[in-house]
Amino acid sequence: MDLKRVYLFREGNATMRDLLGGKGANLAEMSNIGLPVPPGFTITTETCNEYYATGKKLPAGLMDSARAAMKDVESQMGRSFGGATKPLLVSVRSGAKFSMPGMMDTVLNLGLNATTVKALIEETGNKRFVYDSYRRLIMMLSDVAFDLSKHEFDNEIFATYKQKVGAKTDLDLNADQMEEISQLFLAHVRERTGHEFPSDPFEQMAVAIEAVFKSWNNDRAIVYRRTEKIPDEIGTAVNIQAMVFGNAGDDCGTGVAFTRDPSTGEKLIYGEYLMNAQGEDVVAGVRTPVPITELEKQNPKVFAAFMDTANKLEKHYRDMQDLEFTIEHDKLFMLQCRSGKRTGPAAVRIAVEMVAEGLIKKEEALQRVTGSHLDQLLHPRIDPSSLGKAKQLAKGLAASPGSAVGQVVFDADTADLAKHGKLSPNGSVAIGKKVILVRDETNPDDVHGMLASQAVLTARGGKTSHAAVVARGFGIPCVAGAETLSVNVHDRKFSVDGQVIKEGDVITVDGSTGAVYLGELPLIEPEVSGAFGELMAWADSYRTMKVRANADNPRDARQAVEFGAEGIGLCRTEHMFFEAERLPLVQEMILTKDEKVRQNMLDKLQVVQQQDFEGIFEAMDGRPVTVRLIDPPLHEFLPSFEQLVRETTEIQTRIHMGQKDLEKELEAKMKLLGEVESMKEQNPMLGMRGVRLSIILPGLVIMQTRAILQAAAALIKKKQKVYPEIMIPLVSTVNELRVVQNQLEAEAQKIVKEQGVEIPYMFGTMIELPRAALTAGEIAEYAQFFSFGTNDLTQTTFGYSRDDAEGKFLQRYVEQKILSRNPFETIDVAGVGRLMRIAVEEGRAARNGLKCGICGEHGGDPESIDFCQQINLDYVSCSPFRVPIARLAAAQAALRSKVAVTLDK
Ligand code: PEP
Ligand code: MG
Repeated sequence: MDLKRVYLFREGNATMRDLLGGKGANLAEMSNIGLPVPPGFTITTETCNEYYATGKKLPAGLMDSARAAMKDVESQMGRSFGGATKPLLVSVRSGAKFSMPGMMDTVLNLGLNATTVKALIEETGNKRFVYDSYRRLIMMLSDVAFDLSKHEFDNEIFATYKQKVGAKTDLDLNADQMEEISQLFLAHVRERTGHEFPSDPFEQMAVAIEAVFKSWNNDRAIVYRRTEKIPDEIGTAVNIQAMVFGNAGDDCGTGVAFTRDPSTGEKLIYGEYLMNAQGEDVVAGVRTPVPITELEKQNPKVFAAFMDTANKLEKHYRDMQDLEFTIEHDKLFMLQCRSGKRTGPAAVRIAVEMVAEGLIKKEEALQRVTGSHLDQLLHPRIDPSSLGKAKQLAKGLAASPGSAVGQVVFDADTADLAKHGKLSPNGSVAIGKKVILVRDETNPDDVHGMLASQAVLTARGGKTSHAAVVARGFGIPCVAGAETLSVNVHDRKFSVDGQVIKEGDVITVDGSTGAVYLGELPLIEPEVSGAFGELMAWADSYRTMKVRANADNPRDARQAVEFGAEGIGLCRTEHMFFEAERLPLVQEMILTKDEKVRQNMLDKLQVVQQQDFEGIFEAMDGRPVTVRLIDPPLHEFLPSFEQLVRETTEIQTRIHMGQKDLEKELEAKMKLLGEVESMKEQNPMLGMRGVRLSIILPGLVIMQTRAILQAAAALIKKKQKVYPEIMIPLVSTVNELRVVQNQLEAEAQKIVKEQGVEIPYMFGTMIELPRAALTAGEIAEYAQFFSFGTNDLTQTTFGYSRDDAEGKFLQRYVEQKILSRNPFETIDVAGVGRLMRIAVEEGRAARNGLKCGICGEHGGDPESIDFCQQINLDYVSCSPFRVPIARLAAAQAALRSKVAVTLDK
């Protein structure tokens, strides 16, 4: 049998999205449920792939099938394509499986030529409308097929003509003038291409079909597919449909609408329309459309028909619909329906309300909301109702989500002073006020100022610039690369489009969109309540994995609990060492050769660490807390080697020039330089870190164990439950774990005796090196729990330095499809995932019920969470702000695994 490339609308249905594309499948479905859809047919996505596979040729036989289908359409419409009486016009539109709005080509009014123009004028008596349609056809087809940009027609010929005759909008042009424009357009095609504009309707159709196929691979479509993760291989369908006219008179019109408000989710019809216009006029903003509710006053009958159709479609698809319609002489036609795109708040509200309305089940509601929807609700955001009046100053990259308001400051020290309630040197920033750090770009010297700011704004740099990476790490909103900003730190001001903003002026930045506004806009704080809270409660009832948070201090721990964390999966103890008062103690502890001095420093550190842990345990109120013993290479706590070299050279020069009093300072600096040099490593990430430190410097981890368990004992004495899980990082052989754990266990028992209370502690390890995963059975004989450190496990499995790979080559790898994903974001199932599966299976075989979790960045990534469910992890752990996303993703994973199990049976 011949390959079927063409489907009449009545031959398709909503399930055929792969073959007919989203638009084609929905047009078929709408036709079949009896809605007023102009007849037409769809050329399959497979035909698009055939076109490319055969060296960009329309397959033989395609146009014969199209002719046959047109016969059907002609008979349904009672008109003929190219006919000298009652001519039929069609539109040609792209439509892939996934909506790619505005990325591919569309041509309207196909079938117009000298003969049909004449016939249509006779029939309608509306010469102006016919020539208006004709000039649009010439422009659109030439744009997509002959490389003559719309701009040449619209902004040059059309605009010049309007100016010449004194017309403000196209509505001011009469019929003869429209005819003249059509002639000018035809002449332009002739002149620029050397051939006539095609007059044969089927030739027009073939040219348009090919243009749509080609537009699948235009630059913007390729970029869109990449960002939306739409596969390149699926191709686009082409929909050919009888034209109905919104521009055939004042009883005609066209519009777009959503069945619920796509930004808030409120249940009301939301959209706009234009009378006497074609669809592109609404989108292009040539004239200002009118709110759809006006239609009720203007034409109550059509409005009622429209509302009836909208309600029917929403019920039929059980989802919010995005609709396109045309009114032709007071009769409504539906041209498109699809699930509407929506903001995060809208997605949550619609899903929850549709359950209450009985349209969908809870399971389905949970599947409809995505992690990125929730992400929008988890940071402070600008109250959308204030945006109408807001003055946007600039637009940069949305580098770290969330919005913030603050007074502008231009350097890190001023930001830091403001945080501590001190006046800036020039007094420009009010005491105790919140600030936003504005820089050309940031560097490591700015970090303290970034931490003291509500948000960071830079004029240069991309989404992986220093500002962006650091801000995301700290959960601070950031707009990077706002290139219209000209920052003048010296005069403490920046200017943008001629406007000057001085230090102390207030701005609002939105790191989720990249927008920067003048003045203070009202913010909405994130809160898991209302519809959001309800959805989360449903998620909790379906998921089987627990969700913990990575938190290093009581503030983050409290935030995590607020977002629903059921424990801490990773507390990185070394983060506490970076605080200004502690760093000197840590440095001295590292550098001294004198064991007494070292112990003295450790004793001092123990006091503060114990306070930290008490705060964290208290915030977690009986939930388990995994505390990781020191992990990073020690030189991270010391001054930078390069910096010291620069400083010593400078001092030497000054001494040389006569400043002899600097000699003592030089001696001290040289000593420090020597010590730092002796600790320098070629590959610190593979060097003296993790468990290796515990073996070489046992005093440090003994101190940490004491701090943890004494803190636990203190709370237990206050009748609070505490479950400390002490985690030993970067183990590659069981022997490392055995040596360290035995030593710490002995210490733990001593503490229990001293304190006189039972402490339900556990010792476990991170699985973050391939050897550990492969020998998990041996390791589990000691470890009472495993936590997958997938950041290091990815780094060491691939042999990619995680600090360098993302900036250097990973993006290229993904673009060239050497890797399908960035493995630091989504678990590489085939490699890293395989190691994890082995470790879980062999670990649990050796120790029954071994608790296994994940605490690498992947613990907050929905796809990776799905994999964690598949290998039966007990919990995932992620940053506090991702906890709700992880709760939802875990529920979705559990629902999917339930379906998979049912299918297996
Ligand atoms: C990991 O390696 O996945 C991990 C959580 O540890 P860190 O990122 O601190 O090395
Ligand atoms: Mg690690």
